[in-house]
Amino acid sequence: MYCNECGRQFEGNFCPNCGSVAQNAYSTQPQAQTDFNDQYSDRDWLVTLLLSIILGGYGAHRFYCGKIGTGIIWLLTGGCFLVGYIVDLVTIAQGNFKDINGKIVRRESRFR
Ligand SMILES: [Zn+2]
Repeated sequence: MYCNECGRQFEGNFCPNCGSVAQNAYSTQPQAQTDFNDQYSDRDWLVTLLLSIILGGYGAHRFYCGKIGTGIIWLLTGGCFLVGYIVDLVTIAQGNFKDINGKIVRRESRFR
């Protein structure tokens, strides 16, 4: 680890040259300008909704959105004994369901 200020190697958490602390060694990269569409999943909302209605008890919508882990739980527990099934259904219908990357499965514009 090297000092951001003077480039010298750190000793412990401090720069022996200028006294800069270790956290200053991490380059503070400017937040990348996030594309507006970047926060939205490329999963189709209608497909997700239909899967959750028809096969939601088997976690099909979760598999579709890449959530394999919870999909298996849904599959084994019948959508966590229908509670998770209903919660997911409502969440998807409201357009708040997120895929494995935390991106929102957005409702099609024609539904707004
Ligand atoms: Zn330094």
